Amino acid sequence: MMNTLIEKNKKKLLEEKDRLESLLARVASKDETNGDFHAKYPDFGSTEEDNAAEVAAYEMNIAEEHDLELKLNRVSAALARIDKGNYGICAVGGEEIQGARLEAVPEAENCVQHDNAS
Ligand SMILES: [Zn+2]
Repeated sequence: MMNTLIEKNKKKLLEEKDRLESLLARVASKDETNGDFHAKYPDFGSTEEDNAAEVAAYEMNIAEEHDLELKLNRVSAALARIDKGNYGICAVGGEEIQGARLEAVPEAENCVQHDNAS
């Protein structure tokens, strides 16, 4: 594994982590004790119409929070692998992940052959 690629991807992953966290902050609040995110329940007012709009917005927040949190978990896991020194090793087969794949998908945990296994 080329160290320059790891350094480059670490920078990319940290930037992506920041980006995802700021997107998450708009739709969810972070539980500082365990790092989990909880979708925000908006407050538009107290009429029946407001309440219906709140429920709809809340459901969108839940969906977006779920999607962003999954991506964030993948990015965080990749950063943890860099720290542990096993970044770029396929989680399924244990072989080195192709450099071109890591360039394209810095958070990849599988090689191309094993990509459908997860
Ligand atoms: Zn593999």
